[in-house]
Amino acid sequence: MQLAGIGAHHRTAMSPSEPRNEGVNVSESVSSDLSVWEVKYGERVVRKSDVLNDYAQYGLPDGDLDMNYNFWVIRSGDSIVLLDTGYDIPKFDWLGEISVTPTPEALEILGIDPLDVDMVITSHYHYDHIGYLGLFENAKVVSGQAEYDYWIGKLEAGALEGEFSTPDDLAPVVKARDEGRLVLVSEPTEVFPGITVYPIGGHCPGELLTHIETKDGGLIMSVDAAHFYEQIENEWPFFAFTDLQEMKDGLHFINELAAKTGATVVPGHDARVRDRFPAAPGAAGAIATVLA
Ligand SMILES: [Zn+2]
Repeated sequence: MQLAGIGAHHRTAMSPSEPRNEGVNVSESVSSDLSVWEVKYGERVVRKSDVLNDYAQYGLPDGDLDMNYNFWVIRSGDSIVLLDTGYDIPKFDWLGEISVTPTPEALEILGIDPLDVDMVITSHYHYDHIGYLGLFENAKVVSGQAEYDYWIGKLEAGALEGEFSTPDDLAPVVKARDEGRLVLVSEPTEVFPGITVYPIGGHCPGELLTHIETKDGGLIMSVDAAHFYEQIENEWPFFAFTDLQEMKDGLHFINELAAKTGATVVPGHDARVRDRFPAAPGAAGAIATVLA
């Protein structure tokens, strides 16, 4: 489906007659002018055995992985769409992350006023993905219905203790809902011309996988459905999940979608993305990588 009111002048990429929610549905290529930049706001080093589920089963040597913390900026003409918003590392310090460039500062370097952002796609509601969501007061917020149900259910039940999200993190979601800016999706949905989200469970109940059609080809932004390249290549689950089988299915789905579309998969936390794509021009190059 396509959201009414957003980019309605563009043709619908997925016609209503196509099957949904089974197999892989792919937007036809549209002539896209979407640019996609990855913006690094933090980093830490992790052990494979700490972050890959039951890593010992593979019988491989342990090692370090450089883990980056990112959000993504998608631009088309004057429109600005963010995928995730980062979090305030110095203020919260969840897992010993090291702050590189806080989101507000990063946006300033990129010349983006948060109030000009048209849409924020939340991959999921973990602290490191929606921490600054409240800055984007004019943006439509796109989230998975299952993600909303899970976390807002926990919020209302007072059951967030020990979870990777807090009432403060979720407050901007509630505010967007109350202001009519929250868009919940439960099936593959083109939320902006050339940008299609796929609900995918596993790491969280309603994680969204984002497929972006660019002039350089498709990108699949796996975010936390696959943090690292190893997980995509081997379909290895992460240690943190709400449903292990769903996470395995999700990894398989990513590879199916990539095979069908020829899109490049970009894992959400892998520092090697910055080796595979060029740095942004000028001062932005220190923090931003040009994916398309
Ligand atoms: Zn994450």
